[in-house]
Amino acid sequence: MKKQFTFLLILFICSVAYGQNNDSLMLRKIYDYYLTNSRCYSNLKELCSTIGGRLSGSPQAEQAVIWAKKAMYAAGADTVILQPCMVPHWVRGGKEVCQMITKHKTTSLACCALGSSVGTGKAGVTAQVVEVKSFEELEKLGEENIKGKIVFYNVFFDQRKIRPGNAYGEAVKYRAKGASYAAKYDAVAIVVRSMSSVADNEPHTGNMSYDTLISTKRIPALALSYEAADKLSKAITTNPGCSIFIKTGCEILPPVLSYNVVGQLTGSEKPNDFLSAGGHLDSWDNGEGAHDDGAGVVQTMELIALFKHLGIKPRHSIRAVSFMNEENGLAGGQAYADFALKNKENHLTALEADAGGYSPRYINADTLNGLYKLIASWKDLFSPYLIEKIQMNGGGADLTALEKIGVPCIGYEPDTQRYFDIHHTAADTFDKINKRELELGAASVGALFYLLDRYYY
Ligand SMILES: [Zn+2]
Repeated sequence: MKKQFTFLLILFICSVAYGQNNDSLMLRKIYDYYLTNSRCYSNLKELCSTIGGRLSGSPQAEQAVIWAKKAMYAAGADTVILQPCMVPHWVRGGKEVCQMITKHKTTSLACCALGSSVGTGKAGVTAQVVEVKSFEELEKLGEENIKGKIVFYNVFFDQRKIRPGNAYGEAVKYRAKGASYAAKYDAVAIVVRSMSSVADNEPHTGNMSYDTLISTKRIPALALSYEAADKLSKAITTNPGCSIFIKTGCEILPPVLSYNVVGQLTGSEKPNDFLSAGGHLDSWDNGEGAHDDGAGVVQTMELIALFKHLGIKPRHSIRAVSFMNEENGLAGGQAYADFALKNKENHLTALEADAGGYSPRYINADTLNGLYKLIASWKDLFSPYLIEKIQMNGGGADLTALEKIGVPCIGYEPDTQRYFDIHHTAADTFDKINKRELELGAASVGALFYLLDRYYY
């Protein structure tokens, strides 16, 4: 009896080891495919060079939808679904102006309007500037010191944070809500230090919103480059009465019908069980949206091509999702979750790749339904391929609505040390993409989805 048990135990251990060995051989094959055959890089080049920046509601975003539909079919999707969503249509207008006016001279400062901001009107706005470093400071100054002035939020990234996303997360509230808080005290406009840790002259745009619970007034909002913010702060110290002139031509037009583009490989065993991975197709208008988030779009799109290349019919339905409107509204993420509910689709998990096309670092997964535990058990399979940690709590902005309906989500996270240098700037262009890093990131997503299809439910 004891002998029989020992024999069975050895057989079990051998079969587990054999399975892992098989998986590790398959991962090698998957990474080989991405590093030698995949189309991520050429697809991204095409998206960036033929369409470029593609803010929701723009003609370029419309072109990107057509482009993605074609690229999904080219990757081998058996079905491509266009999911409609109404998106905001904000336009920047002409080139923004910000001039610093002191007793002796007028100096131009590099700036850009924040997304969703109202414009200044043709005459522009001139007013004295009040610098603050926090909302608490603003509150202390109160209406008597703020009324009729322009508030300058001079908030730096906390350089001690190892993951720059955490510094961004702390500082971004001044970009997002700064205008409403300043309007509460009757300010006429705001300028914010760009969300960046690099001391250059590139202004970073990004979305803001007017919060009617804070103030019903809508005042113009601009970002200054890191260097411009330094100059302004210095000028305020030496000339306390210093003013600035700002002029923007932004307009908020009626919402526009747009689409998520969903490429699908229908599952052979469980066609109504979905494993989906996506990035966002829209981008800011000032650059080419290469890292943010053309990279995530082409990386996840390549999933379809991978299964085709390996000759594997997935058990579950595999989806690559190019979400619309991540940058200024999240209408696409909501439309995706609504579509899933309406069609009674069972989403086992969804991944988002939206932190740049850099070298792989982490897979972050929600714990619900054993997802994190299962992925964490593959740690050794991934370690030769630069995934150094599998961490709890995944997701991404486009997946917020799916998470709300109980779908455990995954966030693919590359090395983000250089991401916020170019994030939301004119410098987010294809030449900043490293082919191997992009492919390694895509391969991480591909390998993960191969394993999920095999072992997850
Ligand atoms: Zn993004």
